Amino acid sequence: MLLQVSGLTKKFGGFTAVDKVSFSVARGEILGLLGPNGSGKSTTFNCIAGMLRPTSGSVKLDGEEVAGLNADAICHKGLGRTFQIPRPFRELSLVENATLAAYYGANGRITRAEAESRARDALQLAQLPTEASARVGGLGAAGLKKLELARALATQPKLLLADESLGGLDGGEMRQAADMLKHIRDVRGITIVWVEHIMGVLLSVVDRVVVLDHGAVIFQGTPREAQQDERVAEVYLGP
Ligand code: ADP
Ligand code: MG
Repeated sequence: MLLQVSGLTKKFGGFTAVDKVSFSVARGEILGLLGPNGSGKSTTFNCIAGMLRPTSGSVKLDGEEVAGLNADAICHKGLGRTFQIPRPFRELSLVENATLAAYYGANGRITRAEAESRARDALQLAQLPTEASARVGGLGAAGLKKLELARALATQPKLLLADESLGGLDGGEMRQAADMLKHIRDVRGITIVWVEHIMGVLLSVVDRVVVLDHGAVIFQGTPREAQQDERVAEVYLGP
């Protein structure tokens, strides 16, 4: 297992946002982490990525305990993440944005040529232009999501955490975003945890899904099983 989350709990004061969540992700797998708004997806995500400190529980990345480490340390151990709300450096080019991410992922220990090569490779995987003149300014919602993905890929992660990659996209763009994540796994073998509150298109590309409700896991199984599960239907459509 590349990622093992066990008994993960996050409390904000007296409120339990994530309640003893356990799941694992095998190497090369795409896992969909689903749940309605407020179910604890982002809090789980942020506890795994080191943006939040778990109250209790364990997060093992490639066998190594990372719970409680900060986001930089976890990134350097091979976890790449996207942000739900893209915040690129708008005054820099696409290549420059991805190059900075490559330096960050390598903790500065690569040459400029290597950083730019990782950046161009990541942009290509995210289907963005790689020429020096390509700017952030012209990108729409879908382009900005792709740049988020490219910046995460430029850190050369073993595990990619993608948060709400479909927000603000239209139907065709959602399909394209889903196919892109699958392609990245297929050609690079990168393990992916894809967090989303929209189920539709995600179910067609993920290997397994974990569904959260009120901070707890209410379902784990294949996309097909998820579509037939009564509790999943209840959470998504109401009782
Ligand atoms: P999701 O990503 O599934 O929409 P979140 O993980 O963002 O859900 O939130 C889960 C619950 O935790 C929500 O009820 C939210 O209001 C609460 N929450 C999230 N972050 C904080 C915080 N920093 N302080 C207090 N409550 C929070
Ligand atoms: Mg969220």
